[in-house]
Amino acid sequence: MDIGSADACFGGCLCGEIRYEAKGELDFPHLCSCQHCQKISGADAMSWVDFPVEDFHWIGPSGEPKWFDTYPGETKRGFCPECGTSIAAFDYEGTRMGVTIMSLDDPDHVVPIHQGSASNAPTWRPAIKSQIEPDTSSPIIPSPPTATSDRRTNTPPSL
Ligand SMILES: [Zn+2]
Ligand SMILES: [Zn+2]
Repeated sequence: MDIGSADACFGGCLCGEIRYEAKGELDFPHLCSCQHCQKISGADAMSWVDFPVEDFHWIGPSGEPKWFDTYPGETKRGFCPECGTSIAAFDYEGTRMGVTIMSLDDPDHVVPIHQGSASNAPTWRPAIKSQIEPDTSSPIIPSPPTATSDRRTNTPPSL
């Protein structure tokens, strides 16, 4: 599959305060239906694509998005403090910046090839068919969390 590479891709939030310029290869366009993506977006899934972080720059009037640690010390999500647009995800140890596909100025050519946490997709919108191995995970899909606030990890009481 050819998803192309980008001499320069631009994108941003709804209000325009947060803008970015990304260069280099687009990597791993995918949907994600993990609980964090669903809660943070209010949607059944979010769509993500990665860019090399070394060529990624925040160029809007407000600079970087506001970051929220979804997995403290591991993963953070970025959103516009003005309009609330979810725009980015970054692993602290990572080499790629994930951005929401729909934040791209020209998103139509970026086609998701996989859906993370597919089993968590709602029944009324089944997961897309994966073009990769089912268990391949994205760097922006965190490994199982240690946070006690994540209900998925809570062990049911034994009877
Ligand atoms: Zn905004
Ligand atoms: Zn997710």
